Amino acid sequence: MWVYRSDLVPPAEAPAGSLVHVRDERGRRLGSALYSSASQIAIRLLTGDEISETQLPSLLRERITAAVRFRRQVMLDTDSYRVMFSEADLLPGLILDKYNDVLSMQALTQAIDRQDLRQTVLDAIAEHFPEASVIERVDAHIRELEQLPPRESQLVLGERSSTLFAMNGVRFYFDGLGGQKTGAFLDQRENYAAAARYAHGDALDCFTYQGGFALHLARTCATVAAVDSSRPALEVGEQNEQLNRAAHRCGEIEWIEANAFDLLKDYATAGRQYDTIVLDPPAFAKTKRAVPTALRGYKELNLRALKMLRSDGILVTCSCSFHVGEEEFLAMLGSAAADAGRRVRILENRGQSLDHPILLNVPETAYLKCVICQVLA
Ligand code: SAH
Repeated sequence: MWVYRSDLVPPAEAPAGSLVHVRDERGRRLGSALYSSASQIAIRLLTGDEISETQLPSLLRERITAAVRFRRQVMLDTDSYRVMFSEADLLPGLILDKYNDVLSMQALTQAIDRQDLRQTVLDAIAEHFPEASVIERVDAHIRELEQLPPRESQLVLGERSSTLFAMNGVRFYFDGLGGQKTGAFLDQRENYAAAARYAHGDALDCFTYQGGFALHLARTCATVAAVDSSRPALEVGEQNEQLNRAAHRCGEIEWIEANAFDLLKDYATAGRQYDTIVLDPPAFAKTKRAVPTALRGYKELNLRALKMLRSDGILVTCSCSFHVGEEEFLAMLGSAAADAGRRVRILENRGQSLDHPILLNVPETAYLKCVICQVLA
């Protein structure tokens, strides 16, 4: 649970990143929370019990152990997954991603950034993953919002900041600190595998980044074109392709630097057709206010893609905007199908991978939509 600063009565103050006890307006105890003196999210509830500062490190250690244990239960066939996902693991402000033997940690709040708690977290990580190196990835904007002094991304444990990792048997480079930062959208891992089950023929992967979908499609499709507006992202994609081609894990991919909106328009005008199209754009709606504009953007992309698909063609369409709900997204897709004059069957209505669990009543933990559908006629 979050409490915004504007909802605190009376307006309360506490030291940056401290543990506070919370009561509702009638004075009933709600439990203990981590406080931020800077963020609009003043309070992130940690537990329904009133605990003391001295109990905090052991609570964090228990939660970390539970998060690791859950992943070890469900992540059986991969070396790379999100180990801790903030609220969804009852560890507000803490994110840890595992890329094979390199872990990437993010401390997103004043509390988790506290010297003592950071050390507790790092010790726990070292205990659970004794062989791994750990880098801390810093988001300068978030540190500014939390009024934390600037810090560089850095290696905090071990010696490696780069490695190779695999998802569904497809191999990727990871470089957490290098000039060309790499990483992956681990939340799409299960969707890559699902998409690859239906993908066929000529495929187009729009917003490919470093080739997440494209590399999976290249195992089964006759041709794959991968589009992104970022040249550096495409360069890593090409390196990933070489890595997999060497191991006969994928066919050839055409990497295209372009604005996907313009490219879809040009290709549609030119009468190009595809059997499989993936749309995985960045979050168009970063705020509630931006939703109508975002939906127009999603509709334009989906409409063009649906028009370009051959019959029996597969559309894999995603949105990682938390503010655009599943119902709204499906309504947009329905409206695009109607305007395109296509009859479309939903094969799978999917979300984020299991290592990004959703906590009921914390809507922010559910953000990814991935619909796989088939154009019937
Ligand atoms: N599908 C990717 C993740 C996509 S992230 C994967 O599975 O790994 C979104 C990507 O969209 C980024 O790489 C960004 O460079 C790209 N992008 C943003 N705006 C774009 C545009 N207008 N045209 C093409 N690519 C764009």
